[in-house]
Amino acid sequence: MIPYGRQDLSEQDIEAVCRVLKSDYLTQGPEVPLFEQVLGNLVKARHVVAVNSGTSALHIACLALDVGPGDYVWTSPISFVASSNCALYCGASVDFVDVEPDTGNMSVAALKARLEDAEVSGKLPKVVIPVHFAGQPCDMKEISELASRYGFRVIEDASHGLGARYFDEPVGSCRWSDMTVFSFHPVKMITTGEGGAVSTNQPALAEKLSQLRSHGITRDDSQFKALKNDPWVYEQQSLGFNYRMTDLQAALGRSQSASLPGFVSRRQVLAAAYQKAFTDSDVQVLTQKAERSSSWHIFVIQVPEDCRRAMFDLLRESGIGVNVHYIPIYLQPFYQQLGFRSGYCPQAELFYQQALTIPLYTSLSEGELQQVADSVIQALETTSSSINSA
Ligand SMILES: *Cc1c(COP(=O)(O)O)cnc(C)c1O
Repeated sequence: MIPYGRQDLSEQDIEAVCRVLKSDYLTQGPEVPLFEQVLGNLVKARHVVAVNSGTSALHIACLALDVGPGDYVWTSPISFVASSNCALYCGASVDFVDVEPDTGNMSVAALKARLEDAEVSGKLPKVVIPVHFAGQPCDMKEISELASRYGFRVIEDASHGLGARYFDEPVGSCRWSDMTVFSFHPVKMITTGEGGAVSTNQPALAEKLSQLRSHGITRDDSQFKALKNDPWVYEQQSLGFNYRMTDLQAALGRSQSASLPGFVSRRQVLAAAYQKAFTDSDVQVLTQKAERSSSWHIFVIQVPEDCRRAMFDLLRESGIGVNVHYIPIYLQPFYQQLGFRSGYCPQAELFYQQALTIPLYTSLSEGELQQVADSVIQALETTSSSINSA
């Protein structure tokens, strides 16, 4: 089976982890701050706080902005459930903004319309979480203008977007947001097994994030509020968690980071080959908008709704590990129980019904890519002619 995505580990990556295994610290040693520094340089952000998953990163990013009961957090329905679960962890309410039909990213027009209504009803969001779907940056300039106008904060969910660029800035520079969240799950751009990080340029947020990842504790005596400054003293100042990344993970992440530019350019070459292969076919590729370059975390195509299921089965049977990203979050039973109903974001639902994710990863060969592209085109022809003759 050709999978839809997979990690790419080098001998150096493995050695980096083995070095930590033989060292004094498996966790809370020197590797985490070193990885954070490397990430900060890559994404051009002043502060990076590494944690044990992208989900934890989203959770503490919301908490750092004091998201709590009575607050609204808005995100995109075309995302993984973690993008909205993070608001619910904080006791806030979540809402969804519809997407652009040709990119799967949050639609600025839909966001504007929703904000105008929310202003009237007094339910403006405290935080908006745009998701850089498949690795293509959202319209961050427009979103950031709306943020100033309506007074909300912005957390970018860049779980797909490490290595992407927008107006020649790396995603994560937070030029148009308060914080950016990354995931290092094995299918993502680089991996630490499980892992995540938040980048920000705001020192106060960075301080809150690093407390929240470790029980709400600080060991920095200049920050102490109450306890006498004896050498063993630490202070718990808020209710945090154990969301720490281990040194094993950070060493892997730091080593993987060195490969990121190569990973991104390999993915760009493969994506361009897919785009070319589908040019004269009925397979639609996602629109790539101006002034941005995708990290190509996944390659999503759009096919007619009534062919999608049969194509999925045909391709899986022929050993091609296709997938679907994503079931609109609010169609999940848990969200239905919160009162969301189908039809809420029509573009997201149509996007979902036509979406198919085909294999894209750095070690996919040109030959395999051609085989996938040919099989996709053929599967579409087979299914659409059987539908037409039925
Ligand atoms: C992977 C992912 C997450 C969650 O990341 P984990 O590291 O798996 O917790 C959140 N949002 C999106 C869009 C993702 O793809």
